[in-house]
Amino acid sequence: MHLYGTSAVSDRGHLTIGGVDTVQLSKEYGTALYVYDVAMIREKARAFRNAFEQENVHYQVAYASKAFSCIAMVQLADEEGLSLDVVSGGELYTALQAGFPAERIHFHGNNKSDAEIRMALDAKIGCFVVDNFYELALLEQLAEEKGVRANILLRITPGIEAHTHDYILTGQEDSKFGFDLQSGQVEEAIQSAEKKSTLKLLGLHCHIGSQIFETTGFVMAIDKIFQYLSTWYESFGFAPEVLNLGGGFGIRYTADDQPIPVGDYIAAMTHAVKRNLSEGMAMPEIWIEPGRSLVGEAGLTLYTVGSHKHVPELRNYLAVDGGMSDNLRPALYQAKYEAAIANRMNETRDHLYSVAGKCCESGDMLIWDCKLQRAISGDVMAVFSTGAYGYSMANNYNRLPKPAVVFVENGEASLVVKRESYEDLIHHDLPLKQAIISK
Ligand SMILES: *Cc1c(COP(=O)(O)O)cnc(C)c1O
Repeated sequence: MHLYGTSAVSDRGHLTIGGVDTVQLSKEYGTALYVYDVAMIREKARAFRNAFEQENVHYQVAYASKAFSCIAMVQLADEEGLSLDVVSGGELYTALQAGFPAERIHFHGNNKSDAEIRMALDAKIGCFVVDNFYELALLEQLAEEKGVRANILLRITPGIEAHTHDYILTGQEDSKFGFDLQSGQVEEAIQSAEKKSTLKLLGLHCHIGSQIFETTGFVMAIDKIFQYLSTWYESFGFAPEVLNLGGGFGIRYTADDQPIPVGDYIAAMTHAVKRNLSEGMAMPEIWIEPGRSLVGEAGLTLYTVGSHKHVPELRNYLAVDGGMSDNLRPALYQAKYEAAIANRMNETRDHLYSVAGKCCESGDMLIWDCKLQRAISGDVMAVFSTGAYGYSMANNYNRLPKPAVVFVENGEASLVVKRESYEDLIHHDLPLKQAIISK
């Protein structure tokens, strides 16, 4: 059994995380429950930063907060000296409410609204990652209106396919994101941005995909971008001050996933950029945007085992008190996970189960076919590596309240997101109008 970060097994055979007994956590906070190993998040953040320090380049490591955003997480990112990516007014609002320094906030998204751009301009965020010509024009107009100058990166699609699942693949040409490199859109956007006094073009951005386990894709993207950059440098003197190479660094969900040290990505990237620089071109700042790799393995979800169903010769279903409402990834893109019975860690894993959620969808299965300890109703199940895109994709399907989130560190637990109540579920509901009822 693979244990992540500070997880261990106690004398009583209970799974612990951050020095805290998970069975105790399940009693104290209820299930389903997201639990984060804060020490592990810090360790990951430091690994990225140290890798850059070793390469001796100017850099920013921006946490892609869409992976998991709440006030405490944003504050933790700040404590660790990270920058922050937001992709919506809601993520921006969370960051600002958390007191995150605006100058280290980068705003992404392929369809930022008027109101979102205004909000970001008012907050004086550090950088807009402009996705398309519509946004370029809108941002220019709104910045002019407010009499401010906005820092921008242009998001480009370099036409590189990283080896990953289709749903989380974004660097290929046929993508909804970014300016297309091949067809001349990037050059047009650069020249247009450079003419605008209300925009300061810092450089380029690309994000080639997610859950990437090799450095090759990043190096290919850099080589490709520089084929164009060298030409632009010669023909009109454009050299980026910043090159943002996105996120997508792979993590371990199951034994099939074999992540490489984050330093390998950073070294490969910085070397590829250095190797490609034209004579006279200054080394740009390298920015990256890890989401999953900062928080994914640090999180686990605790559930209580409920009903069982045995289909003779076929399958043993084990149902838990959550599912696609707190972890959409298996239903959305067949994501794989590992689990354990947290109160039976010393027992042998000799039972084959499929773990079902409680939502009214046959597709609401968290794990197909996994070997677990023999489980009975009332046992606590831990599903590992749920820290990224778990809580952030959580929903109220079947009107299930969203679980609470707990941070653990040095033997102490603290609640960072309260469990939703039934009252929360109807908070925005309004009664049927009397007039309509009587008709
Ligand atoms: C989603 C996303 C990231 C983070 O991806 P991870 O796979 O979580 O590291 C970074 N940058 C952009 C532009 C993204 O869309």
